[in-house]
Amino acid sequence: MSEETRLREEICTYGRSLFERGLTPGSSGNISLRLDDGGWLVTPTNASLGFLDPARISRLDAGGNLVSGDKPTKEIPLHAALYDSRVEARAIVHLHSTHAVAVSMLPEIDPRAVLPPLTPYYLMRAGATALVPYFRPGDPAVADAIRGLAGRYASVLLANHGPVVAGSSLENAVFATEELEETAKLYLLLRNLNPRTLSPQQVQDLVSHFGLTLPEGQAEGQAERQDCPSSGEGHRNG
Ligand SMILES: [Zn+2]
Repeated sequence: MSEETRLREEICTYGRSLFERGLTPGSSGNISLRLDDGGWLVTPTNASLGFLDPARISRLDAGGNLVSGDKPTKEIPLHAALYDSRVEARAIVHLHSTHAVAVSMLPEIDPRAVLPPLTPYYLMRAGATALVPYFRPGDPAVADAIRGLAGRYASVLLANHGPVVAGSSLENAVFATEELEETAKLYLLLRNLNPRTLSPQQVQDLVSHFGLTLPEGQAEGQAERQDCPSSGEGHRNG
C-alpha cells in the first residue's frame, strides 16, 4: 500500500470514528492532510465524515488546484491559513462538536484562552485555544483572522461554528480536537460551580516536564483567570 493510499484510509477511519461518536453531525466537519510534495488530501464538500470513500477524497496540488477526486470542502481557506501559519502542521481537523460550539457563544470567553487549564491532557494535547469571530462558512476572510494569530495557536475555535485544530499527524490533530471537546464539556458542567483549575505552578510543571509550547503568557495568564464564573457573573443584566 502506498503512503497516499494509507493516508486516504486513515482519513476515512478517523472520520467515521468522529462521526459515529456524534462529534460532528450530518455532512459537517472536514479533515485535511498535507503531503510530502506540498499537495493535500482533503474531504469533499457536502460529504459526511461517517461515510467517506477513500477514492473520492479530493487531491490538491501544492497550488491548491484539484488534481483528482470530488470537489473539496468550501473551508479550504481556513485550512490553508492554518497550514501557512503552522509550518509543522501535517493535518487539520474541523468539527461542529456541540460543547465546543456552545462555549464559543459564552459572553465571558477570553479570545486568547477559550478554556481554563482544567486538566493536564487539555494542555498536553490542545495547548491553548484561541477564539476567532463569526464568519459565514467558506468566507475567505476567516483566513485573515487565522493568520492574525501568527501561528501561536494549533487550536482555534470559530465563534458559533466549531473548532479547527492542527497537528503533526492526523492522529495528533484528532486527539487534540477530542480533548478540546471534552474540556468544553467539563467547562459547561462546572460553570457556576467555582471549580479548582490547575494552579499556575501545576501548569508550569506540565510546560517544563513535557516541553509544551503555549502562546506567550498563557501558562500564567490562563491559570490566573477566574473561569467558570459563579452564578450571575458572565451574564449581562437587563
Ligand atoms: Zn464548519
